[in-house]
Amino acid sequence: MSIHNIHPSTLVAKADDFLDTTTGAIVPAIHPSTTFARNDQYEPINPANVYTRDCNPTFIPAENVIAKLEGGEGCALFSSGMAAVAAVFYTLPTGSHAAIPESMYWGVLYWVRAFCDRVGIQLSEYDPSSVASLEAALEGHAKTDLIWVETPSNPLMGVTDLTAAAAVAIRVGAVMVVDNTAATPVFTKPIEHGAHIVMHSATKSLNGHSDVLAGALVTADLNSATWKAILQERHGAGALPGSFEAWLLQRGLRTLYLRVERAASTAQQLAEQLHQHSAVSLVRYPGLVSDPGHLTAKKQMHGGFGSLLSFEVNGGRREALAVAGALQLIVSGTSLGGVETLIEHRYTVEPPETEIPENLLRLAVGIEDPDDLWHDLKQALNKIA
Ligand SMILES: *Cc1c(COP(=O)(O)O)cnc(C)c1O
Repeated sequence: MSIHNIHPSTLVAKADDFLDTTTGAIVPAIHPSTTFARNDQYEPINPANVYTRDCNPTFIPAENVIAKLEGGEGCALFSSGMAAVAAVFYTLPTGSHAAIPESMYWGVLYWVRAFCDRVGIQLSEYDPSSVASLEAALEGHAKTDLIWVETPSNPLMGVTDLTAAAAVAIRVGAVMVVDNTAATPVFTKPIEHGAHIVMHSATKSLNGHSDVLAGALVTADLNSATWKAILQERHGAGALPGSFEAWLLQRGLRTLYLRVERAASTAQQLAEQLHQHSAVSLVRYPGLVSDPGHLTAKKQMHGGFGSLLSFEVNGGRREALAVAGALQLIVSGTSLGGVETLIEHRYTVEPPETEIPENLLRLAVGIEDPDDLWHDLKQALNKIA
């Protein structure tokens, strides 16, 4: 089989067929150097390497793998997912217009609202589960510059129809950026549906071991004005990962498919089991046939529905916290996409104006034995049943 038509799981396992031809190493090296020497003609010995704020060779394996996984032309790593988000919004001039989901990852929502308010970017918010709501959010604006999408949205698991949203973006001439952190390129490739840029918190499933903070942007077009502005911003402001983080990220990526497929099949099992439990009033997971986002998710998620789900328990905040507190195996804490399962009471950690229900718990499923996880959830739920 030619290297050109290998499956993406082979691509990640082999780190894009990495081989260091000078040493024979099959694992990329770490280059901690921040600066790179010039020759006697004062030319860089390797033109790609001048100073680490432009590029460091340690970034390349992870950037190449992520770009190929997403079907993009290029990838740029950032020091965090939020730094990647910020690099996109920094390209918008004062007076421009952006549309964002009214419910999404709280850190993005909070930062974008404050940033746009401060620099005079008009912001409209739409219901992520309705493209009609996106269209309504654009009405009355002569021009929309950016449409931000997060699907499934965190933690309410709203599903946005990517193809329909991209058609809207093309019609109004907006750049469409998709936060693909929760879906992962294992299940969804937004560029295939018309997205211009894909954003990742590589802190989550891409690295997968809860030991690296990093972000990534992938472009469908290396020559787009937005992409050039993003690279300029990264070079200028310097929100790059350290070389050790970039190295750990390429290592974590090697097992992406094993981890994410396992976590998603466990999430599917747990969603179905939670759905049957008498102490649970609602399960939000696009893999459930009863979920309002199921049909749209089926069109754009292939092979699984992700490792993130939310469920609501009978009662309120007290009951939700009682369940989280009674878990023995599952750890209470924020984040997702790691090998260990985490549960979080979002209402407690979001500010008072949050619209997250008090009885909601978000479960970020890891790769443990599915039955062990279910036994832990069941014994905790039985305490409030
Ligand atoms: C974690 C997360 C972010 C922010 O990424 P950091 O790496 O924590 O800065 C953005 N979007 C989503 C969906 C996330 O889960």
